[in-house]
Amino acid sequence: MDHKALAELLFPNVTETPEDLEARFPQRENPEGAVITRMAPSPTGFVHLGNLVQGLTSERMAHQSGGVLFLRVEDTDAKREVPGAVEVLIDTLKHYGIAFDEGATHEGDSGLYGPYRQRQRAAIYHVYAKKMVEDGLAYPCFCTEQELADMRQEQEANKQNTGYYGKYAMWRDRSMEDIQAQLDAGNPWVLRFRSTGSIENQFKYDDLVKGKLTITENDVDHVLLKSDGIPTYHFAHAVDDHLMRTTHVVRGDEWLPSLPFHIQLFKALGFKLPKYVHIGPLMKMDGNSKRKLSKRKDPELALTFYKAEGFPVEAVYEYIMTLLNSNYEDWRRANPTAPSTDFKFSPKKLNPAGNLFDYAKLTDVSKNEIAKMDAEKVYTLLVEWAKEFDPDFAQKLESDKDYAVSILAIGRGGKKPRKDLATWKEAKPYMGFFYDEYLETPVFDEKFSHETVKTVLEKFLAVYDPADDSGVWFDKVKAITNEIGFTTDMKAYKADPTAFPGTVADVSTFLRQAVTGKTNSPDLYTVMQILGYERTVARIKAIL
Ligand code: GLU
Repeated sequence: MDHKALAELLFPNVTETPEDLEARFPQRENPEGAVITRMAPSPTGFVHLGNLVQGLTSERMAHQSGGVLFLRVEDTDAKREVPGAVEVLIDTLKHYGIAFDEGATHEGDSGLYGPYRQRQRAAIYHVYAKKMVEDGLAYPCFCTEQELADMRQEQEANKQNTGYYGKYAMWRDRSMEDIQAQLDAGNPWVLRFRSTGSIENQFKYDDLVKGKLTITENDVDHVLLKSDGIPTYHFAHAVDDHLMRTTHVVRGDEWLPSLPFHIQLFKALGFKLPKYVHIGPLMKMDGNSKRKLSKRKDPELALTFYKAEGFPVEAVYEYIMTLLNSNYEDWRRANPTAPSTDFKFSPKKLNPAGNLFDYAKLTDVSKNEIAKMDAEKVYTLLVEWAKEFDPDFAQKLESDKDYAVSILAIGRGGKKPRKDLATWKEAKPYMGFFYDEYLETPVFDEKFSHETVKTVLEKFLAVYDPADDSGVWFDKVKAITNEIGFTTDMKAYKADPTAFPGTVADVSTFLRQAVTGKTNSPDLYTVMQILGYERTVARIKAIL
C-alpha cells in the first residue's frame, strides 16, 4: 500500500505539516515545574459540582506553580451544544474564584494557542490525520452501521470483547482499489487508528491521583475522525493538549478506560505524554449505601443550587478544598484568616476513590464562614442574593441600611460569634421579625392563661425604659417574675417543677413572643434596643 498516495487521496487540501504547527505553537516559556493545564468542557449548559472540583484542582495546580490555566471548548458534538453555555460556565467559575489566563472568553478567544474551540480547529486535526495515514498509522473505514451492528452481535454470541479490532477490523488492510471504489461511490468514511497493541500485554502507569496503575494495552482501532471530518474526543485531546503545550490533564476518572488508547495515540503522534490527574466521582449517601451524585436525582449537583440557596462563595470554596485535600482543615485551623491560596494544594492528596459529598458539613463550613464576616459584608452579600431571589426582602434591607446592619451585627465579632446563618435563604426566617410586614402572630403556650401573659406584658410596659442597660433590664424582668408568683430560681424549679406555676424563662418567652412573634430569637434585650422604644411598645400593645 502506498500510504502517501492514500493520504493525498483522503486529504487533498491539507498542505500544512506538523512541523508548521510546531512552529506556529512554540513551547511555552514558563518557569521550571510550571503546570500548564486546562478545563475542556463540552458546552452543555449544565455547570455542576464536578466542574468546580476539576476547576479548582486545575486552577490551584496551575497558579501555585506559576503556570497557566486555559479554557478549551470541546464542542465537537454539536447536538449536545446549548447556546450561551460557554458564557454560563465562564461566569459561574469566575463567581467561585476560578479565572482563566487564556482560552475562550465572552468576546471570543484570547491567547496565542487558539483557536480554543474545537470546531474551529478542524484544519489542524486534519494535518495530523493526514500525517498518520502517511505513516501507515491510520486508515479509512467504510463500514456501515449495519456491518458494525452485525459484528457486535457476532462478538457477543462468541463471548468475545466487542469492538473494531483484530480480525474484525475489516478495513484495516484493504487495497487502494477498494478504497477508491468506495470514495468514487461517495460513501462516507471514518478515519481509524491502526492499533498495534495487544490485550495480552500490560504496562505500568503512574496517575497523579490514582497512583500506580497496571494498564492493559489497547487493541481496538478507534475512530479518530468522524464521517463529517470532526475528530473524536480522543484524537482532539491528543492534538490540542500537545499543541497547547498542556503539561497536566485534570479530568474525571470516567476517562480512565480510554487512557491505554490515549497513551498509545500520543506515542504514535510523537507527542510527549502529559501527566494525568484522574479525579474520582462525587458521591452521596443514599440510605446506607454510597452512590454517584446524579444530575437527574440530585439538585445539589448543579452549581446554581448553591447560588439559589445563598451559600456564600467562600463557603463552597472552603468546603470543596476540605474535600480535595484532607489536610486543608488543619491548615485552616492554624491559619484562620490566611487567604486559601496560601495553602499548598497537592493533587496527590485527592482521594482516588472520589469523595463523599456531605451537605451537613457544607452547612457547618458555611456557618463558620458567615460567622467570620463583619456585618457590612454580610449585608452586602445578603442584599446581592436577595435582589435576585427575594426582591421584596432586598427592598426592606435597602430601605434602611443602618437598621439592617445593626440587626446583622448581633452576636458578631468576639471570640465566640453566633452561628445563626448557613445560607442567605435562612436570613429572612432568622431576622424577618424586625420588619413589621414579616412579623408573625405569636401563639402562646396553652399551659399559661391569657391573663398571666397579659399581666406580664402590662407590667413590663409599666417599667420598660430603653435607657436601662441589660443588667437593669433583666432585673426588671426578674421582679415581674416574682410579682406574679413565678420563680427566678431555675435550680429549685428543675428539682421540683410542680412547685412553681412558671419561671423567669417563661416570662422572657412571653415578652420575646410579643416582640418577635417567635419563641427563639437573638438576645431579647438587644432585639428591643434595635427595634427601638416605639416599635417595641407598639408590638406589645398590639398583643394586649
Ligand atoms: N470534554 C471532556 C469532558 O467534558 C473533557 C475531558 C478532559 O478534560 O480532557 O469530559
